[in-house]
Amino acid sequence: MTPPDDPTAWTRDIIARDRRHVWHPFTQHQTEVEPIVLTRAKDASLFDADSKEILDLISSWWTCTHGHSHPKLNEALARQAENFEHVMFAGFTHQPAVDLATALARLLPGDLNRVFYSDDGSTAVEVALKIAYQHWVNCGDSRRRVLLAFDGGYHGDTLGAMSLGRGSGFFSVFRDLMANVCVLPFPCTFEDDDAVEGREAGALSGCEALLTERGQEIAALIIEPLLQGAGGMRICRPSFLKRLVELAQGAGIVVIFDEVATGFGRTGTLFAMEQADVVPDLVCLSKGLTAGYMPMAVTVARDALFESFLDDSFDRALPHGHSFTANPLACAVGLRSLALFEEENTLARIAGINARHREMLTVLSSRDDLVRARVLGSILAVDVKDAGAYQSAKSLTLKAWYLSQGLNIRPLGQTLYLMPPYCITDEELTRAYAGLMEGVDRFSR
Ligand code: PMP
Repeated sequence: MTPPDDPTAWTRDIIARDRRHVWHPFTQHQTEVEPIVLTRAKDASLFDADSKEILDLISSWWTCTHGHSHPKLNEALARQAENFEHVMFAGFTHQPAVDLATALARLLPGDLNRVFYSDDGSTAVEVALKIAYQHWVNCGDSRRRVLLAFDGGYHGDTLGAMSLGRGSGFFSVFRDLMANVCVLPFPCTFEDDDAVEGREAGALSGCEALLTERGQEIAALIIEPLLQGAGGMRICRPSFLKRLVELAQGAGIVVIFDEVATGFGRTGTLFAMEQADVVPDLVCLSKGLTAGYMPMAVTVARDALFESFLDDSFDRALPHGHSFTANPLACAVGLRSLALFEEENTLARIAGINARHREMLTVLSSRDDLVRARVLGSILAVDVKDAGAYQSAKSLTLKAWYLSQGLNIRPLGQTLYLMPPYCITDEELTRAYAGLMEGVDRFSR
C-alpha cells in the first residue's frame, strides 16, 4: 500500500467510516476507544499510517506464527493465486488440499489420518462435535447426547462451541440455547504450586464418577490440551492429560483435543498432545495452521471414526461443508508454513523464547502484586491480584496504556500474558518485558 499523503486526515476518514459501518468482534461500541488503523505489518511489528510501531506480543489473537508478511509465505500465496484461487470441494479436489492433508497426517501421531477442512476454530469444533455425535448414531447408539468439557474452557462462539465453553463465562446470555454439557474442574497449575496433585486427583475422580453414573449417555469429552487460552492462559500438566485421556478412552468416550490455540509450536512442541504422549480421537486445528494468513481450520479424525461414516447410503455421511472449504490459497500457505518450521528451525527458536520467559519467572514470582506466574513454550503468563474480570475498567486501562507504549498486550481479565510470533528478536523481547513490568508498576499503584 502506498503511504497516504496526509496520514492524519487519512486515518480520521478510516475511523469515521469504521464507526459508521463496521461492527467489531467482542466489542461494546458505545464505550470502546477508537481502533488503531494499521497500514503495514512486518515480522513481530504492526505499523500505523505514521509508521508508529506496535509489537504484536499476542500474535494477533495467536494466529501469527513465523511473523507478519513473511516473504516465503507471500510468495506461496501469490503463486497459488496465479493458478487458481478457489474451487468447490465436493466432487473436486486439488493438490494444495491433498498435500496439506498428507503433511498433517504425517506430522500428527497415531492414525489421525483423515482431514476435514473448514474455516475457523469454532467451525473445527462444531465439526468435531457433529462427527462425535453422528459416530455414535451410525454405530446404532442414539442415546449419547451429553458432552464433557472443562471449567474455564473456550472453544469458539458458534452454538455448539459456546455450549462447550459455557465454563468460560463469556456466553451466559445464550445459556438457554445451549447443548447438554457437563463441566469438569480444570486442575490448572503454575510455578511453585504445591497443591496441584490434589486438584488433579479431584478432577480425575469427578470425571470417573460421571463416566460411571452417566457413561451410556456421554458422546465425547473435549479439552484444550496443556493450555486453556481464552480462559486465562491456564496450564495443566502433561501427566494429568495422559491419565484423563486413558480414563475417557478406556470408557469408550470420543476424546476431542482442541489444539486451535496450542497447535503449531505454541506449547514448545508442534502439537501439545506430543508432550502427553496420547492420541485423541479427533483434533481441531486453526490459527497457526496458515501461519495466521488465511481463515482455515481442520478437524482430523482417526481412521476408525471415519470408517463409521462409510455406507451405501448418504444417511451415514457427514452433512457438513462450507463454501470456502479447503480454500487453495489457504492450503498453499499452510503447506509452506509447515516447511518453514524445518527451514527456519522454528522449534529451536521457540525454545529460545521459552528460555527468556523462564528468566522472567524469578522477576514475576518476587512481587507481591502478582500471582501464579507460569511459562509454557512461547507463552508467559501471570495474574495481577485484584485486577477484576474480563473487560474490567482496570484491564481496559492497562490495555490502552500498553498500546500507547507500542505494545499489543491485551489482559485477559486478571491475566497478563505474552505470546509473541516466533520470529521475535532478543531485543524485542527485552523491550516487551520492560514494558510489561512498567505497566504492572503503574497498574498496581
Ligand atoms: N478453540 C480455541 C482453543 C480457541 O482459543 C479459539 C479462539 N480463541 C477457538 C477455538 C475459536 O476459534 P475462532 O475464533 O477461529 O473461531
